[in-house]
Amino acid sequence: MKPIRVVIVGGGFAAVQFAKTLRRKLRDSECEILLFSRENHMVFHPLLADVAGASINADAAAAPLRQMLPGVGCRTERVQRIDLSSSKIEFEDGNGALARLHYDHVVIACGAESNLGIIPGMSDHAFAFKVMRDAIDLRQHIVRQMEYAEASSDPDRRRWHLSFIVVGAGFSGTEVAGEINELVRSSTRFYRNFAKDDVVVTLVHSQDQILPEVAPKLREFARKKMEKAGITMLLNTRAVAATHEGIQLRDGRMVPGATVVCTIGTAISPLVQHLDVPKERGRIRTTPEMRIEGQTNAWAVGDCAHIINTFDDRPSPPTGQFAERQGRQAALNLVRILRGEATQPFRFKALGQLCSIGGYQAVAEMLGVHISGFLAWFLWRSVYLFKLPTWSRRVKVGFDWAWDVLFPRDLSFLNTDGAERLAHAYYRPSDFIHRQGELARTFSIIEEGEVEVLQMTDQAPEGKVVAILGKGDFFGEAALLGNRPHATSIRARTVVRLAQIGSALFSQLAGSFAPLRDLVSRAVTRRSGDFWRRLPLAKSLLDGEPLASLLDPLPAESLNKEATLADALRALDESAAGELLILDENQRLWGTLDRGDLCSIVARIAVTSTETRGDVSQRKLSDLLLGNPVYVSLEDSTLVASATLLDHGISWLPVVQSKDDARPVGCLRGEKIGHRIIQKIGQVEAGHAKVAS
Ligand SMILES: Cc1cc2nc3c(=O)[nH]c(=O)nc-3n(C[C@H](O)[C@H](O)[C@H](O)COP(=O)(O)OP(=O)(O)OC[C@H]3O[C@@H](n4cnc5c(N)ncnc54)[C@H](O)[C@@H]3O)c2cc1C
Repeated sequence: MKPIRVVIVGGGFAAVQFAKTLRRKLRDSECEILLFSRENHMVFHPLLADVAGASINADAAAAPLRQMLPGVGCRTERVQRIDLSSSKIEFEDGNGALARLHYDHVVIACGAESNLGIIPGMSDHAFAFKVMRDAIDLRQHIVRQMEYAEASSDPDRRRWHLSFIVVGAGFSGTEVAGEINELVRSSTRFYRNFAKDDVVVTLVHSQDQILPEVAPKLREFARKKMEKAGITMLLNTRAVAATHEGIQLRDGRMVPGATVVCTIGTAISPLVQHLDVPKERGRIRTTPEMRIEGQTNAWAVGDCAHIINTFDDRPSPPTGQFAERQGRQAALNLVRILRGEATQPFRFKALGQLCSIGGYQAVAEMLGVHISGFLAWFLWRSVYLFKLPTWSRRVKVGFDWAWDVLFPRDLSFLNTDGAERLAHAYYRPSDFIHRQGELARTFSIIEEGEVEVLQMTDQAPEGKVVAILGKGDFFGEAALLGNRPHATSIRARTVVRLAQIGSALFSQLAGSFAPLRDLVSRAVTRRSGDFWRRLPLAKSLLDGEPLASLLDPLPAESLNKEATLADALRALDESAAGELLILDENQRLWGTLDRGDLCSIVARIAVTSTETRGDVSQRKLSDLLLGNPVYVSLEDSTLVASATLLDHGISWLPVVQSKDDARPVGCLRGEKIGHRIIQKIGQVEAGHAKVAS
């Protein structure tokens, strides 16, 4: 008889136990087992903090699936979709083509994903702590910060490099904070420029105690020990934003630090999101035997599943301990079904909890007994050594731990080049993105918000705003191309999100991609300062000219952003100047439209398909325009407004009340500014002539 095919999606605790148990119970001739996993190894998550803290090597905490699972077909491929109605999975095969494979039973064990998007700026500036790559990158970054601190002559910057922030004090946050503290403090003796007292490790947690899952006595023990080891606890508070400089707390305080690790926030795997089955808070609902509700040949186990534990009638927690048991018991249930026997509901009594807190200390609850201190730490290491999936890993980890006791932690790191990267960054209003005189490292494109360009001089040491840049604008090109420090500072005016291209990548792109090269060289010429250097009189005249004196009244016509293209065409027809302001529901400036913009709207519509195009005249302006116009406020100088007009190559500019109040108050026209300059130059020259005569 043809063997049945069981496809397992995932390569973690649940999937591996399922595959192992099934292989033990059924022969090859009875069952073909195929395991699809994104990675070719299983990550032993409880040891990730040890990898980040350099007390074990990364390969010791990652076991290759095909070596662990003899008799199982291991495929390193991401499953894109599961079609439950036709019993097929879809995946990208080795040649990049979409392949489909039929199964008799499918087991979904794809875990959960980390989600840093819950806090603004976290995904740009913080490390997640979920997969092996996170732990390896974090370790590299920590050691790199120590090297920067050693090389830094500025004590504030040095302290910033040595400040580490961990958000979330559950098991993984507490363990990683303990490991970072241990790694950095125990390594200070190899550096000359800083000492233990310069190191700041901060653990931020929203509740009044760390480790909410363990008994109060153990939590208290862990907190006191960690504080004694030098870790600062910020309890009862939340991180509300992360920036390049550190994190902002709910009460407005800023905690500075070059390293932020975020251990909170999980998301449902995209594979599960697209599955049309009953779910509970995004996790797949199963029957007590762990089949997906309403399905006969589809199972779900581990963190992606909502499984009631009949031991206490509560949903199983997302832990490795439970995932392993579910994998094993579900495989046994599948064997029972194939043999025509009755299945058994999931039932498991948790064995206990273990958490290492650094410095050879841990807390443990095992079978109801509470243990803390060195004994708990020894127990923690023994249990995890025993629980590692293969003997080769046990020997490797045991060897690394013995090494760690006898020798200092390894401080070598691969100098991966940030200059080759594309990254994203988040800034709050008033944050400096770079300062005048700093070396240029990135070319930045504004994805959201506005920045001001500041010129620091002896007369204006705090800096004078010389231009404003908005969404779609860029900066940093002149310093990168000229290989010189920044000639101006850039400060966020609003919340700002940037795409940042590293210097080497930028040089490659600007060298080989002609449109970018032309755009950049035009900007360099425009912004070089030559324009104003050639017209020093005009510059000084504009500097002294109040912006309000050049203000034209608002165009009589303004439209709401929900108005249609037909409304806009009518209004433009009736407008003498051919310009419209587009407002939002609070009468704040949302966009601008002039006759020239109509061409770009037509061009944009032309490339869309006829079905999506619909009745073009009835399309809303909010769909057709990008919003986020270039504008200045009454608080800005005429020089800033002129520079902004020149920089964007535009002839008019809306003016709003203030930085915080975007209600339009008028318009500024390049033509009028030009007239005023000529008029003033005429007056100055007439004055000179009078003096000479
Ligand atoms: C830092 C950290 C420390 C932890 N410490 C502990 C601890 O001490 N004790 C404890 O009990 N629990 C601990 N946990 C929790 C535990 O690791 C998880 O509960 C457990 O890993 C869940 O197992 P799983 O098999 O459901 O998912 P995972 O182990 O996350 O495995 C999911 C697998 O699915 C694969 N996958 C995902 N999508 C696809 C796709 N579309 N196609 C193919 N493959 C896919 C992934 O590559 C991965 O191999 C910790 C977790 C973390 C992050």
